[in-house]
Amino acid sequence: MRANTWQGRNSVEVQDVPDPKILNQRDAIVKVTSSAICGSDLHLYDGYIPTMKRGDVIGHEFMGEVVDVGREVTNLRPGDRVVVPFPIACGNCNACAAGLWAACENSNPNAGIAEKAMGHSPCGIFGYSHMMGGFAGGQAEAVRVPFADVGPLKVPDGVTDEQALFLSDVFPTGFMGAEMCDVEPHDVVAVWGAGPVGLFAAVSAFLLGAHRVIVIDRFDYRLQLAREKVGAETINYVEAGDVPETLKEMTGGRGPDKVIEAVGMEAHHQHGIVHAYDRVKQATRQETERPHAVREAILSVRNGGIVSIVGVFGGVADKFPLGAVVNRGLTIRAGQCHVHRYLRPLMDRIVSGEVDPTFIITHTVPLEEAPTAFETFKHKQDECVKVVLKP
Ligand code: NAD
Ligand code: ZN
Ligand code: ZN
Repeated sequence: MRANTWQGRNSVEVQDVPDPKILNQRDAIVKVTSSAICGSDLHLYDGYIPTMKRGDVIGHEFMGEVVDVGREVTNLRPGDRVVVPFPIACGNCNACAAGLWAACENSNPNAGIAEKAMGHSPCGIFGYSHMMGGFAGGQAEAVRVPFADVGPLKVPDGVTDEQALFLSDVFPTGFMGAEMCDVEPHDVVAVWGAGPVGLFAAVSAFLLGAHRVIVIDRFDYRLQLAREKVGAETINYVEAGDVPETLKEMTGGRGPDKVIEAVGMEAHHQHGIVHAYDRVKQATRQETERPHAVREAILSVRNGGIVSIVGVFGGVADKFPLGAVVNRGLTIRAGQCHVHRYLRPLMDRIVSGEVDPTFIITHTVPLEEAPTAFETFKHKQDECVKVVLKP
């Protein structure tokens, strides 16, 4: 079959790879009908996620048709249309029982590598490095889905691929980002990043009852979506200069009540010195992150506020304003999204027409064009927000 493979820094290639097979009786094979490129894939593409190997099949946002199931998968049968969560979770361990699906204790066969880096291992993830399990991903014609008896959600007739696809990741991730804010009716919520994750975080903050939502980015075409499709206010940080100061002005001097970081380890920074510091330290592997948006979020939130981090980080960060967190009584919450938890409730919101997730799609291209699409998405060319790949 054909699949998009990682070939090293700034290089992916669509190649012939072996067809996936059932290896365990809880597996399903899904023939992919739609897949997407995520900001998380850019961290792979840019070479910041360790333990990638040349030829790895990438992609963790996908849906399609079940074509084969193991004997223990009794809830699915060939022909079912499903959307698949990006975290692989067993459904039986302590973490899964607590609803912490992305922290599943059983789904990462390479847990030892992750333990060295992070103390304990998170779940396995499709197409996201050997440290995360070495599972082949979904930018492919077909995928082996482990624990298929607990992960995939059947897509109702009448819901299109484009409506269902983002339940695999970015809609639930944005929703969890907002949910971790314990939104209250009078709240002002600020969101760093107007990519798909930030936009869904903003949508979700409103769904959960926020009074005002302010989205921060440097790309006007993305901020325009935040204004026109989400109803948020926006800050272009290049024009504004000092984001915490601008937020103070917009909130009567107090700062936003809750803040969501949806940028991740490759944050851009307008002002030279700190950005140069992060770039050098990240490039020489002395820190894994460029955590500028996290720093700004922490410094901006009001005293006693909540900092919700859904951007992806890999290891250790410098110049982390711990003093602000402790002295101003902030709460930090973070996580890879526990997607399984949100599949049904968010599907219900899609079916009822409350949310139409398709508003983020700007590009739909054949899988064969993945290499060009990665470049377009990475450099935010052609007003790109989200690319859907069609195998
Ligand atoms: P994206 O690349 O489309 O969007 C990131 C946006 O952040 C861009 O628009 C960029 O201009 C903006 N940005 C960069 N520096 C900034 C700064 N200093 N201040 C404000 N905005 C800034 O990516 P995406 O798909 O929206 O993903 C965003 C992050 O979420 C990534 O780190 C991704 O890995 C992560 N993610 C996490 C999970 C999870 O489960 N926690 C799931 C999916 C994605
Ligand atoms: Zn993703
Ligand atoms: Zn588990």
